[in-house]
Amino acid sequence: MQQQLTTYLRAGYPGLAIITAEEARAEAEITSVCTSLERHLHAWSSSEGLIDIKEGRVTTCPDPLDALQLIERLFGQEKIRHVIVMRDLQLYLEPSDPMLVRRLKDLLRLAKPGGHAMILLGCRLKLPPELDHEITGVDFSLPAAEQLGVVLDGILATNKLKRPNEAIREGALQSALGLTTTEAENAFALSVVETNGIDHKVVAREKARTLKRNGLVEVIETKPSLADIGGLDQLKEWLERRSGAFSTSAKAYGLPAPKGLLIVGIPGTGKSLTAKATASAFGLPLLRLDMGRVFAGIVGQSESNLRSVIQTAEAIAPCVLWIDEIEKGLSGSQSSGSSDGGTSSRVFGSFLSWMQEKEKPVFVVATANDVSKLPPEFLRKGRFDELFFVDLPDALERAQIWDIVIARHGRKPADFDSVVLARACEQFTGAEIDAVFIDAMHEAYADGKEPGNKHIVEAITRTVPLANLMDGQIAALRHWAKGRAREAASRSTPARRYSGRVAESN
Ligand code: ATP
Repeated sequence: MQQQLTTYLRAGYPGLAIITAEEARAEAEITSVCTSLERHLHAWSSSEGLIDIKEGRVTTCPDPLDALQLIERLFGQEKIRHVIVMRDLQLYLEPSDPMLVRRLKDLLRLAKPGGHAMILLGCRLKLPPELDHEITGVDFSLPAAEQLGVVLDGILATNKLKRPNEAIREGALQSALGLTTTEAENAFALSVVETNGIDHKVVAREKARTLKRNGLVEVIETKPSLADIGGLDQLKEWLERRSGAFSTSAKAYGLPAPKGLLIVGIPGTGKSLTAKATASAFGLPLLRLDMGRVFAGIVGQSESNLRSVIQTAEAIAPCVLWIDEIEKGLSGSQSSGSSDGGTSSRVFGSFLSWMQEKEKPVFVVATANDVSKLPPEFLRKGRFDELFFVDLPDALERAQIWDIVIARHGRKPADFDSVVLARACEQFTGAEIDAVFIDAMHEAYADGKEPGNKHIVEAITRTVPLANLMDGQIAALRHWAKGRAREAASRSTPARRYSGRVAESN
């Protein structure tokens, strides 16, 4: 942030905004920039009034209008360039007070020729349209490992603990990335209480809890591997061939980090499974974003929700950010602003820009069932590296899925005939195969037996696959995918070999 703030102040931007919950850290950075640029720093808040930071002088004025009047006098002074930090001014702008908005505009106009600046500081900011073009946002990232190291050392010193070896320290700092300084401080302190030292597992657990509590992103710890996915050979190969793309050697080679993947397809065919396996294939942490939550809650908060998600993902980067059923969050963006005052399309626009321009290695895996709700801009080249379509599994894939499902439930695939089972469950998705096996296990358990082919075939007969009920939708999806998306599975050969047996392709 310091570099960007320095540039804006040097360029004479009169109105700036820093949106963060970390007031103290932001103010420390503003102070350092003002010191190096020789600007006279002041801070206003309704509780403390206007404080001249340099002189230590305080003028009580809880009313923001009175504060602006005092600031106007400061801006009248020649030769001194003032920077005023306005804490929580956003609270007076929602809904906006016409007098305050006007005064602020006048003041910004007055500030410009004298090289003064006002910085709005708060945890969110929704400006009225009259001020929207007058105030420029300054990026304020979550703390990097280096800054968290200072927090960690502070906690160790307070608790009279020795500095741990570099590997332990580094592990704890990496685990804390994505937290604010206060949240990281709490996580480190908890680790000290629980283990009398620093344990990255405690810090990681606290981070997962904190992010979950914040409600937008969730850390997913259990990640299946690519071997846990049956079929989808093309998609798996694509991922395998990019598994080293986030390494230091790939960076040295000059390889741009992959941006992301969009996986579209029929429900239950393994899209979420693949999203999770992507993180293990790349060896990166996995964050799951609930797009619906970005738009839920207080009106006007979606923008700051999205900003917070991006900040978290970028702080943890390199990482995989999985956006499940993205169409649910994005559908409002097609309403051309009629239903929610344009918020969805604006937030969606910011998300697309970030996707296109992001420099931090955040690999986005978006999954979708309903393409009719995906806005066309979303599919334009440059956003994702590839778009895959996942169809119903063919016989060979179903046989592979049977083997995986059987093994996952603690049974030996060799005890079953997966080729026969695959033939018996045409039109079934992977999720349905899993459900059928569980059903068969229940029946077998009730009979006091181990599940066998007979239990499974009976369970298959009892099941109506979803595909039978959504014929039209599946046909439409296949039609849409033709020419637009790559097939996740190769279907070219009429018969494909599996484990030495031949399974007929659909
Ligand atoms: P939805 O769109 O409804 O979220 P999805 O396509 O994301 O569905 P998953 O959630 O990945 O489907 O699949 C559900 C479960 O079905 C998985 O956890 C897994 O047990 C099983 N499954 C689905 N497809 C496969 C597959 N190709 N290989 C192995 N298991 C699978």
